[in-house]
Amino acid sequence: VTFDSFNLDPRLLQAINKLGFEHPTLIQSQSLRLSLQEKKDIIAKASTGSGKTAAYCIPILQSILVDNESNSNSTNEIQSVVLVPTKELAQQVSSFFKELTMYCGKISRSVNLNEIVNDQLLSSILNEKPEILVSTPSRLLSIIEANSNVNLMNLKYLVIDEVDLMISYGYDEDLDKLTHYLNLKQHMQVFMMSATLNEDINGLKEKFCNKPAILKL
Ligand code: AMP
Repeated sequence: VTFDSFNLDPRLLQAINKLGFEHPTLIQSQSLRLSLQEKKDIIAKASTGSGKTAAYCIPILQSILVDNESNSNSTNEIQSVVLVPTKELAQQVSSFFKELTMYCGKISRSVNLNEIVNDQLLSSILNEKPEILVSTPSRLLSIIEANSNVNLMNLKYLVIDEVDLMISYGYDEDLDKLTHYLNLKQHMQVFMMSATLNEDINGLKEKFCNKPAILKL
């Protein structure tokens, strides 16, 4: 399998080549197929090093690029939220999005909410409706509670990365509160990534996922 076989936007493929990724890892090829072709929610047992970050970043960017192409006049909305357990991971994921969009001009903008501590700057950035927000659950929740204009009801992708860590850090409570600001009944694709898959994740799985494909690679 090659990245070429997934019909990816040429700008995205160019960035993937530039990063030196020759072939999708196992989790990437499964996730590209299940999310782009079958539109499935995905729960993946994936540890660091498996290529799990690209396994959700690439499908999300591909979908945003396709959407932007087909309705260039539509009012833009926040399309994707990536939740991670630490500020460090938020930084890594957000830089990875930037690398993958190096040939996309300003089409796809990702913002690391943990990085922007100035309220005025934050509110002007949020007014521009970036397509992708990367955040810890607590940071996103406090921003939503303080800014009534942050609308996540039209979200298309939600990622909960390192679910096992989220739970051990006690973030499941914040995740629970976040469900009130999401439209989970409407079609939204969810990725849950976790180094371990055991019954601890069942609560979050029930709350967020709709008939997920389970990948244990
Ligand atoms: P992750 O599992 O997401 O933490 O990624 C681990 C490392 O593998 C990162 O440095 C990625 O840049 C790299 N990587 C991800 N996908 C690929 C791929 N398809 N080919 C080569 N390297 C990759």
